[in-house]
Amino acid sequence: MLTVDRIACTGHGICAHILSGAIDLDDWGYPILRDVAPDQGLAAEAIKLCPSRALRWQRR
Ligand code: SF4
Repeated sequence: MLTVDRIACTGHGICAHILSGAIDLDDWGYPILRDVAPDQGLAAEAIKLCPSRALRWQRR
């Protein structure tokens, strides 16, 4: 499942842009995961582009 390291995340919002529908942003620009099993290709892109390396796949 897709997870966000909330300590590492700096609220750039790139993940929500790539995974719109799976990730929303809160009022401060930090991600809220709506779907922890989104499209794997898009998730891989979001993980690659996250500047804080805060996004990752984790085994359930
Ligand atoms: S792209 Fe990375 S740093 Fe930016 S909001 Fe998403 S998880 Fe946080």
